[in-house]
Amino acid sequence: MNKGLEKHGQTVAMVPSYVTGVPTGKEVGTFLALDLGGTNLRVCLIKLGSDGNISIKQQKYKVSETYKTGEARQLFDFLADCIDKFLAELNETDKRSSSKEGKLNLGFTFSFPVEQTAIDKGNLISWTKGFTCAGAVGKDVVFMLQEALNRKGVPVKVSALVNDTVGTLLAHAYKHPKTLLGVILGTGTNCAYFEKISNIKKLQFNSNAEHMIINLEWGSFDNEKKVLPITMFDNKLDRESNIPRFQIFEKMVSGMYLGEITRNVLLNLIDRKLIFDGISSKDFNTHYSFETAYLSTIEEDDSDTLENVRKILEEELNIPSTTLTDRKIVKRVCQIVGIRSARLSAAGLSAIISHCNVIETGCDIGIDGSLFEFYPAFEARIKNALREHFGSNADNINLGLARDGSGVGAALAAMLSVK
Ligand code: ADP
Repeated sequence: MNKGLEKHGQTVAMVPSYVTGVPTGKEVGTFLALDLGGTNLRVCLIKLGSDGNISIKQQKYKVSETYKTGEARQLFDFLADCIDKFLAELNETDKRSSSKEGKLNLGFTFSFPVEQTAIDKGNLISWTKGFTCAGAVGKDVVFMLQEALNRKGVPVKVSALVNDTVGTLLAHAYKHPKTLLGVILGTGTNCAYFEKISNIKKLQFNSNAEHMIINLEWGSFDNEKKVLPITMFDNKLDRESNIPRFQIFEKMVSGMYLGEITRNVLLNLIDRKLIFDGISSKDFNTHYSFETAYLSTIEEDDSDTLENVRKILEEELNIPSTTLTDRKIVKRVCQIVGIRSARLSAAGLSAIISHCNVIETGCDIGIDGSLFEFYPAFEARIKNALREHFGSNADNINLGLARDGSGVGAALAAMLSVK
């Protein structure tokens, strides 16, 4: 973290967000938010009423593989199209502008590594999470979106660019004033926190503000593979991924990868004839066929015969037959992969809490993502690890689900930027 605060281009990028304001919970106005980088593309209209009231209208769109892996211009045209369609379906009062130029202000949640230079400027460093569009790396994503909107004559001004972690942090802070961290534990994983501007040595920034939100980009921690105890199963996943040697921490923690790590471990046990009588299936041999959601179902199965585990293995993945011992082994492997993910997340949180020196005073942490929301015991496992690290002081740390926070957060960032 200290390296990244001092210099650009470090493994943990420590990206300044240029968001310096802290929401008070009293903000008002109507804003658009566009969220790209998760499972779905979302367009939201967010009305911040007085007294902390928030109303949200939103529409989800699927981003096809063609857009994810084609030309950047096509992807951004598609984003503009979705915003245009969404606006066409709103009524007139909803459309009432929040900007002086007669345009709605939009907060753009863009959850990929970006080198940000202003609240509304940021160059893409690299794609992650299965996106590989040509012609975007090194370019300003706000400019590309604004150009696409202008080409179509959509009356929207992109006024803030935020990472989903920054959005989650802002949205959680709107309701919980002691919030210090925003975390994503979904397809990917990442974290943002409030840092003292005087500590951000690499930043040239004139302002009276004291704090700025920093997006760690912690998914890339240990890309050098020097610190984390990486197994042969992680190495196989990394080697076969579309971004080898990148996002090493993310590949051990996030929802996109846990199923595949588990599959790699189980394939090894099959090859050694330790499970399934040494017999796999076409489905089981297919990359990413073992979904991370299976880990949840398998861990939740407390029946004597592990019936749900059997169903997944035999009916969904077509393994010819499994014994109860096989199923117990599979469940244990899932537990180990899940526990490791939660404990590594907790290690990251502990590092930031220690860095900010808030363990005595305590803090709130807003967390978004299906892994945190649905994986049984994920939260309890994080808390156990925090307790191991901080003792009873860990009780001063409150973890809270910040469901879909990034949309509201992007709206708050748009508002803070036009104030
Ligand atoms: P995103 O991060 O893409 O916005 P989500 O927060 O829904 O979206 O996270 C999606 C990820 O969560 C996927 O990788 C999926 O495998 C994983 N996931 C979905 N459901 C579960 C579940 N029940 N248990 C564990 N992981 C899950």
